[in-house]
Order: sequence, then structure tokens, then C-alpha cells
Amino acid sequence: MPDFDVVVIGAGSAGSVAASVLSTQTNVSVCLIEAGPDYGPFEAGRWPSEILDPRLRPRTHDWGYVDSRAKVVGGCSAHNQCAAVWGLPEDYDLWGGAGNLGWSYKEISKLIQEIERCSVDSLTEWRGKDGWLPTRHYRDEELASWQLAFLESTVSMGYSRIADLSAPQPGEGVMPFHANVYKSTRWNAAFAFLDRARGRRNLTVLPNTLAEKLLFEHKNARTLVCQSGSDTLEIRARQFVICAGAYSSPGILMRSGIGPRTELERLGIRIHRDLLGVGKNLQDHSVVSVEFELSEHGLRALEQDVVEGSFHESQVILRARSVHCKGPFDLHLAPYQTTADSDEYVSAVLACDMVPQSRGSIHLSGTDAELPPLIDFGFLTDPLHQDASVLIDGLRLIHRLAESGPLATMIESRTPRPDAMKPGESYSYVESHVDGYAHPVGTCRMGQLSDSLAVVDSGGLVRGTSNVYVADASIIPTIPRANTNLTCMLIGLKIAKELSIRLLRS
Ligand SMILES: Cc1cc2nc3c(=O)[nH]c(=O)nc-3n(C[C@H](O)[C@H](O)[C@H](O)COP(=O)(O)OP(=O)(O)OC[C@H]3O[C@@H](n4cnc5c(N)ncnc54)[C@H](O)[C@@H]3O)c2cc1C
Repeated sequence: MPDFDVVVIGAGSAGSVAASVLSTQTNVSVCLIEAGPDYGPFEAGRWPSEILDPRLRPRTHDWGYVDSRAKVVGGCSAHNQCAAVWGLPEDYDLWGGAGNLGWSYKEISKLIQEIERCSVDSLTEWRGKDGWLPTRHYRDEELASWQLAFLESTVSMGYSRIADLSAPQPGEGVMPFHANVYKSTRWNAAFAFLDRARGRRNLTVLPNTLAEKLLFEHKNARTLVCQSGSDTLEIRARQFVICAGAYSSPGILMRSGIGPRTELERLGIRIHRDLLGVGKNLQDHSVVSVEFELSEHGLRALEQDVVEGSFHESQVILRARSVHCKGPFDLHLAPYQTTADSDEYVSAVLACDMVPQSRGSIHLSGTDAELPPLIDFGFLTDPLHQDASVLIDGLRLIHRLAESGPLATMIESRTPRPDAMKPGESYSYVESHVDGYAHPVGTCRMGQLSDSLAVVDSGGLVRGTSNVYVADASIIPTIPRANTNLTCMLIGLKIAKELSIRLLRS
């Protein structure tokens, strides 16, 4: 006899939505497992202040991998910069065009309405207004000095101000981004979606519980093995929905015997299903940044921001075109200031390649679920070196911006000086400084049977299983030209809704 109808693994952006949707049917019992802590509903007032404050990215509640990942109910939506941006229609059409039924923009746009509740003054045709996640764009008067100076400098260079980073046109332009900030709070997926479900008797939330692996009988997973403190729990269910994120979901599958044969054999894991694509196809928007030493004026402005409480790490994004760009844009440029990683303030501008061609992979470092995954980002490995060229173009653009308008008056000097670099030096700089935009996706990619790297079908069902689904960033076949949080929520919503319908019929 199963303990639950459905177990959802991971209470992040996608998992919070999935558990909320699945538990709307009162006769379906749902258990939501989360490795990190749960501080209850927002209204209870128990959440740590750094998780609530949208101005600074929290450094607590992290898995401690080489790339930041949140370990708390709400997942990375409780940790992130709150930029609320949808992929372009073409991005989703690419998924649909690859044979993933139901994923074209036309089909998913109804779900955008169910996710987002954009405020009237920030609403565009590319936004939802009937959903549960409140969004609005920052206003100029709310911007920190560094953010405002960047915005004004881009305008002085001839970039126009745009109304929505989710709109496909105009391709280039700058704006204070839409953010899921409400009541001056980082409004994470748990507040938006889980809180409305918490009172349901058919929903159980199990925080501080690490999912290790699934045990199978033929094609059916029967039991989830978890660690809770020093206890080992075995939870039986009819359906399992894995929402542990792009770094962890492939690991849960591999520990359960689903993954590339060579990798499983290397670790002595009994093979349940040889599935080549598990852990492959890792994508993130690659990033390089230029750091600036502030002028007297820049320092004074920063100090004033801190005193007045208007200091903010990130609020503005410029969409721009590199010389390689074939679509509306291929670069995000973002001003960034922080103090969190050192004693001193860092003032930087990031250039982000929004159409990365390179692919990386995730591997297990052992069979113990506590071990961090081995992450091979694969940045700059595309054979035509397009990613490096785009980032070098981004560096040049940052340099021009730093000499324009108000930004120039805030800067004393910069590292590196792309203008002073010899040919080849900019490539070396990009190669040694490349990083990610914290948007890892694709490691359990969705695709047709003919796709040898496909791990799940268009309903999220894992190949070769009858009741294991993946619903999070890892199923994304090609990374959208946008920050990924909203898209992950949409994935949780879509797969949970379809599973709900199947449960109702069965
Ligand atoms: C620092 C940072 C800044 C970002 N900024 C933005 C931004 O401004 N805008 C934007 O759109 N996107 C941003 N992102 C990306 C965005 O937040 C993620 O793409 C999105 O949250 C991923 O959702 P997910 O559901 O796939 O995974 P997650 O939200 O990571 O959820 C996975 C959950 O599963 C849990 N889990 C993992 N393994 C296990 C296990 N074995 N057992 C139990 N539980 C487990 C985790 O603790 C976590 O709660 C940012 C990300 C980071 C880290």
C-alpha cells in the first residue's frame, strides 16, 4: 500500500508549483520532499531576513557546489536576483518544433497567465495578469546609483528604453527589469504557490529530507529512499515527480540506476535503464565581467545608497547584439555591485551570452547522495568558438559604455582594459574568467524517442519508466534567451497539470 499518491522531490521554483497544483485534487495525497529547511508560510514571519531582502543575493542556505544553488523551500527562487523574464516565443517554438507536443509558445502562453500576476502599470502583452506570482518592473526612482548610471549611459550611447525584456521586439534596448518583488520582499515560489496549498490535509511537506534514490519493480518506481538526519526513510508512492534542479535531478536518476551505462558501471550502480542523456546537455548563459575601481563620486554615491537603503546588487538589463547575432539580441549586459563575497564593494558590469552553443555535463562523484555532483560546465567548448567571440564583443561594449555618460564619472579605472588588449589577450581573458549566469538547464532533456540524448518525453515521463517524471530546469532542451526562473515555474505547472488529469482518469 503506497504512503502517498504522488511524491514531489524538491520544493524549488518548479516543485513548489507542482506540489500546489497536484494537491488541488483533495483525493490525491501529495508529499513534498525538500533537502533544505522550511520556515512555513510567509505570514508566519519566520523566514530569515536575508532570504526576504530582494536587494542582496543571500549566501546562506546554499548547497556549496562550485555554482550557487539554494537549499531551502522555494529553491533558487528564494535566493535569486528576482529578474522575472520569459523566454522569447521563438525559444519555446524551438522546443515544440523539436517534436515536444504542447510546448510551442501558442500552447504555453495560456500557462503564463496562470503563473504571473503582473501589476497593471508594468503589464505588456507578453506578461500574465491572472496568476499567483506578483511581478512589476523597477521604477527609475528605486534604482541604486550604479544601476541608474548604467541605464543612462546606455541611453546616451543610443540604446532605446524598452517596456519588457520578454518582448521579442525591439531586440536591443535597456530597462529596469520586471521583478518578483512584492511588499519589498523576494516573493519566492513557495510564497506564491505553496502557501495557498499548505492548509490542505492531502499535502505533507517534509523539509530537511534528502532524496537518495528510487527503487524499482520492473518499469514502476515503488519507493523513494531518503535521509532525514540520521534516519533512513522509505516512502512508497504511485507517482514520483523529480524537481531537484539541473544539478541534482540527473544525480537522483543515476543513483536509481537510470543513466549512461559507462557512468553507472564505473560506480557499481545496478543498471535499471541505460539512458545516455542523463547528465548531458548542460547549458548556461556564459558570462564575463569587468570590474571597476570607483571614482570619488562613485564611492560617495555608493555610500549614500547604503545609508539610504537603496543599494541593490542588480536591477537593470541591456539587451544588445554582438557582431555574430542572428536574432533580435544575443547579449545581456547587467550592472552589478556587491559586497557579499569580500570585505570590499565590487562594482562590475557583466556580459552574458544568451545564445550559448557550448554544452557541459553532470557526473556523480560517488554513490553517496551527500556528495556534490561533478559539474563540467563546458563553457567555450563550441567548435566554432562563437561563445568566446560573443563574450569578447560583450567586453568591448562594456568598455565603450564605461566611457559614456554618468557611468564614466563613477569610474576611476577598470580591470581589464579591453581597448589595451593585444589580439589573443581578450580570448585568454574570457577563457580564464568565464562563468555562468546561474541558469543551468538541460541535464535531463525533453525530446522524442529518436533523440538519443532525450531523457523525458513531452509530458516529463522518464524513458523506460511508467511513473517517474522530471519537471524542472533539467528538462529544457535549449536554454531560452532569458533568466530561467519563470520558465521553471511554468514547467512545474504544465507537467503537474497533465499528471493531475491522468490521476483523475485512473
Ligand atoms: C544566485 C542565483 C541568481 C539567479 N537569478 C535569477 C534571476 O534573477 N531571474 C531568474 O529568472 N532566474 C534566476 N536564477 C535561476 C533560477 O532561480 C533557477 O533557474 C530556478 O530557480 C531553477 O528552478 P528549479 O525548480 O529547476 O530548481 P531549484 O529552484 O534549484 O529547486 C530545486 C530544489 O530541490 C531541492 N533538492 C535538490 N536535491 C535534492 C534532493 N536530493 N533531495 C531533496 N531535495 C533536493 C533543492 O534544495 C531545491 O530546493 C538564479 C539562480 C541563482 C542560483
